[in-house]
Amino acid sequence: MSIAISDEQVELAGSLRKRAASLGGIEAAREAEHDPGATFDEVWAAAEEMGIAAIAVPESAGGGGGTVLDQAVALEACAHELLPGGLLGAAIGSILTGRPGRYGVQVHPAGVVWDGGTAAEALLLDGGDVSPSAGLDLTARHAAATGVPGSAVDDRRRRVAVTLAAAESAGVARWCLETAVEYAKVREQFGKKIGSFQAIKHLCAEMLETVEAVTAAAWDAAACADGEDPAQWAFAADVAHLICFDGAVEVAKGCIQVLGGIGFTFEHDAHLYLRRAHSLRALVGPSDAAAERLTAAAVAGVRRRVDVDLGGRDEAIRPEVAATADAIAALPPEERRAALVETGFLTPHWPKPYGLAADPTLQIVIDQELARAGVDRPDLVIAGWALPTILAHGTEEQCARFVRPSLMGELVWCQLFSEPGSGSDLASLRTKAIRVEPATDPAGRAGWSISGQKVWTSVAERADWGICLARTDPDAPPHKGITYFLVDMRSPGIEVRPLREITGEALFNEVFLDAVFVPDENVVAAPGDGWRLARTTLANERVAMASARLTKSVERIVQIATERELGAVERNRIGHQVALATVCGLLGVRTTLRALAGHGPGAESSVAKLLGVRSRQDSSELALQLQGDGIAVLGELERDGDPVAADVWEALNTRCLSIAGGTTQILRNVAGERILGLPRS
Ligand SMILES: Cc1cc2nc3c(=O)[nH]c(=O)nc-3n(C[C@H](O)[C@H](O)[C@H](O)COP(=O)(O)OP(=O)(O)OC[C@H]3O[C@@H](n4cnc5c(N)ncnc54)[C@H](O)[C@@H]3O)c2cc1C
Repeated sequence: MSIAISDEQVELAGSLRKRAASLGGIEAAREAEHDPGATFDEVWAAAEEMGIAAIAVPESAGGGGGTVLDQAVALEACAHELLPGGLLGAAIGSILTGRPGRYGVQVHPAGVVWDGGTAAEALLLDGGDVSPSAGLDLTARHAAATGVPGSAVDDRRRRVAVTLAAAESAGVARWCLETAVEYAKVREQFGKKIGSFQAIKHLCAEMLETVEAVTAAAWDAAACADGEDPAQWAFAADVAHLICFDGAVEVAKGCIQVLGGIGFTFEHDAHLYLRRAHSLRALVGPSDAAAERLTAAAVAGVRRRVDVDLGGRDEAIRPEVAATADAIAALPPEERRAALVETGFLTPHWPKPYGLAADPTLQIVIDQELARAGVDRPDLVIAGWALPTILAHGTEEQCARFVRPSLMGELVWCQLFSEPGSGSDLASLRTKAIRVEPATDPAGRAGWSISGQKVWTSVAERADWGICLARTDPDAPPHKGITYFLVDMRSPGIEVRPLREITGEALFNEVFLDAVFVPDENVVAAPGDGWRLARTTLANERVAMASARLTKSVERIVQIATERELGAVERNRIGHQVALATVCGLLGVRTTLRALAGHGPGAESSVAKLLGVRSRQDSSELALQLQGDGIAVLGELERDGDPVAADVWEALNTRCLSIAGGTTQILRNVAGERILGLPRS
């Protein structure tokens, strides 16, 4: 997916890409390889006619009357086709001057004049003249500045430049990902498509993660440029600086790696994209200053605030939702949960009568109004995914019996899926369920007798019920013979043994099932449907009021930077973590906006977990490192104890994030196969 989210911008991006592809820009750049003075006038003339570089200039001044975000969408599309002719410099200059033109722009004192070789007018910081030259990027002609370096730093100029260059980097990165994936689908080695090799699949999945991060950061910087808060734009531009340019270079290198020898040829276009990516990174300058600024801003309390524009669709429903939220807030804390359940505000996306079958707008308005009124929703934990399965596939009796008491917190659930021999490969599970018929059962019961061992079962020690997968047909193929049971955890034959975790606490368990009887009424759907059920859930229909808030661990490292004098290297690392955590939040915001625009979740929601895990693990590890050798003498390890001990606890505990609920490797397999369409291993 590109920077564009709204229908108009998606359409703009699509038509510009097509038009840009028809202009033969790459061929022109190849022909001009040995011509340092090439100006690519034909391409420029076509671009000028379409007004591509003056989209954000007011119509009254001869521009397109669009936003900086529109301009970014256009530049991303043109960079995807690697259009030469100096569109970036022209677009930056047009925004800075408010007049359309073919500009070259000097962004940093003593720095190169961007697109100075193709420009009709140079916007210099240092005065003097420009000296055009060929360079690394064969599709551009930048220029050295001949003026005497001054010290003038123009923050607005730098921000416009970084914002639009970030959009170009998103287009470059997207082409590289698409090219690598297309090749991996068709190229065969060892008798197989190379995309079926996990090393290639995971490389492509990691490229996807990077591309989505680059796209989100570029989108946010451009959207902020249209806002009215310079501090927010400064923050977003620095996030883009840290994420987009290294990201595009990484993806371009990955593309060449996937292509193999053909990717190393001059003939293939991949190196032209790598050159553009390197060139953009060099032009914006080292990221150290951006990281330092970001850390300083975070220490000063700046966070990205992203307002989701509901386009007026909320106006009719908001007063009633607000009144309900206020009424809940006015209740004593112990009565609020019942009120949340009663009103459907606890799970508004669930079907009635347990939820409100709420559309995305209503869900977000409820989120917003509950937050405004200061009402926290209780975490449903495992019931949060057990109940949607019951709602979607269970009987009316099962819904009536389990859903409301679980929402009320009267029933606690655990998940009896993993086994000692079956973790990622859950379909290989060995726990057996044998049919019990009234005619042969001494007690005359009809149902199933379950025996086996489950492991890593969170909260089993206090759970009332468990969702359990067991094999009911040993002769069927592994995925077909599994059934989904609701198991009363107080049944005879169940033994729960706690397991100590990495932190020393015992939060998960082994569960032994020895001829545990489960009546027919506690089977969800039909016997043999278990695998399908385990994979489907209503949970992904939830639309959250996403924000770009920082995570707990990132807030923690910012707090450490607030309390203590840190070195440049440490502050730099904090800046990078602030950027990554902000981007993770932005991926959620983009998912929400897509839902509001009537689209299903895009790739960003799938990669959000992968990037979110990386962010939380890396930032908690950084907090640990910032504690220095204090961790060697910290005494008792308590999660809520002394700050050093709490940091250690968090760094150890976050290791589970890349294992529980699907390991990082399994999620990359899924991203590679289901999102990118690569062949199965
Ligand atoms: C804190 C925590 C809480 C948990 N709570 C529950 C719970 O309540 N209920 C429950 O049922 N389970 C629970 N689990 C279990 C969790 O779902 C499994 O740990 C997870 O699915 C991985 O299975 P495994 O541990 O057997 O590792 P394995 O599947 O054996 O994996 C070991 C390593 O091999 C890699 N690997 C495996 N297969 C592949 C492949 N095809 N390609 C590439 N790499 C592969 C994995 O990525 C991993 O790095 C919990 C786990 C943790 C850590």
